[in-house]
Amino acid sequence: MSTTTQTAATAYSMTIDGVAVPAASTYPVIDPATCRVVGEAPDCTREQLDAAVAAARRAQPGWAVLPVADRRRYLRTIAEVIDANAGELARLVTLEQGKPLAAATGEVAGLGHWLRETAALDLPVTVNQDDAERRSITRHVPLGVVAAITPWNYPMGQLSFKLGPALLAGNTVIVKPSTFTPLSALRLGELLRDVLPAGVVNVVTGADGLGPWVTRHPGIDKISFTGSTRTGRDVMAGAGASLTRVTLELGGNDPAIVLPDVDVDQVAEQLFWGAFGNAGQICLATKRLYLHADVYDRIAARMVDLAERVTVGNGLDEGVLIGPISNRRQYDTVVDLLRDSRDRGHEILTGGLPEDEPDGLFLRPTLIGDPPENARIVQEEQFGPVLPLLRFHDVEDAVARANASEYGLGASVWSADPDAALAVAERLQAGTVWVNEIMHLSPLVPFGGLKQSGVGVESGQAGLLEFTERQTVTVRR
Ligand code: NAD
Repeated sequence: MSTTTQTAATAYSMTIDGVAVPAASTYPVIDPATCRVVGEAPDCTREQLDAAVAAARRAQPGWAVLPVADRRRYLRTIAEVIDANAGELARLVTLEQGKPLAAATGEVAGLGHWLRETAALDLPVTVNQDDAERRSITRHVPLGVVAAITPWNYPMGQLSFKLGPALLAGNTVIVKPSTFTPLSALRLGELLRDVLPAGVVNVVTGADGLGPWVTRHPGIDKISFTGSTRTGRDVMAGAGASLTRVTLELGGNDPAIVLPDVDVDQVAEQLFWGAFGNAGQICLATKRLYLHADVYDRIAARMVDLAERVTVGNGLDEGVLIGPISNRRQYDTVVDLLRDSRDRGHEILTGGLPEDEPDGLFLRPTLIGDPPENARIVQEEQFGPVLPLLRFHDVEDAVARANASEYGLGASVWSADPDAALAVAERLQAGTVWVNEIMHLSPLVPFGGLKQSGVGVESGQAGLLEFTERQTVTVRR
């Protein structure tokens, strides 16, 4: 694979205090479908981060005293700007992340939708006591400056859970996208310069050092972080020094349990896309598929057929449904797991290691037949298009194996009998459990991880309140 530089690569600028900030230096952003440079992103200096934090702090009191109706209007205006520029933003997402353009278009539309729905949420006031003696209320006040740190799998989508709620609650924001996928966020910052008061949304990008600077910055009041569990631990440790508030949305190793009574024809395709959507690079994708022995062979055969027929390729090409792995680091992680499976003699039902070095970071969807439960491909989060199919005879055994993980993000149960599935679902240790569907998210529904999959929730009113502190005000009559 070669990394060549296109001379015409577009440069994008960081947004700090409502204006473009010249980059002291830049780094190349790579299209994973071609391994070519598609843009240059600024490498934020410490002084520039300080300036972004100072701008956000200056802007925050004025933003917080706006009537909430005004902030709701701003959220809707941001959504309009996103809609008006959806084509450009979606193309950037495909170029920097790899996913098919239709999926990127849906992701950008989703951000607008989330902003509008978030704008309609309430910041409740609880009346604790209201009598002749005193009136006591508890209200939700903003935290101050929020840092939104996002991963590379959904460069725009991940902002859905952070930008709108943080702003509605009266905070100002510093967006720090993944080093691998900074372009769409930089462009969004540029588009918002004329829309929002200066300093309300700042966008900074940089290489590996920037994240730790952000999480340890004393001028930031809240870190809303989505990424790996390993980084999440570091974020929490860094935030500890100033008791900075954190919400952590982290890794997962989500099980799906398929009971013997399912309609195989109906569920096989759903199970396939539940694992291989976005080339498996979804936190809530199925990472371990537990199939009852009665349906194992038939579902495996259907999924192999789907895997062999699906078009994998450059997300800009018509008809492509699965794009490349998003970056070299993740490609190497997935290839390492594939090598481990090969070396241990696991049954590769379809896919496997690529035979030659392609121009882009492509892997065919891979199904691994009933590897041992302690195999790395079962125990580790693959975050790529590789799925172990695991046979079970007794649902008790499937529940025990599903729960035997340090993670607890999502899970699903599949059955023709929703009540039977629900009884199983309620015993799974996961922040979200679906019955007969998967990955359905809504701006009105909170999600978050149990165990090492996270701290706190995003979305819905509970997600909004994570961007606030509770303040009790008491008036003695
Ligand atoms: P990552 O942890 O490597 O990076 C996430 C973000 O943190 C990026 O912006 C990165 O630049 C930044 N970062 C890196 N090191 C940092 C540090 N020491 N301090 C502060 N910030 C730092 O994760 P990734 O590879 O971008 O994303 C994949 C992971 O994210 C997977 O584990 C996946 O499960 C998880 N994820 C979780 C959710 C969820 O909602 N729970 C959603 C999407 C992805």
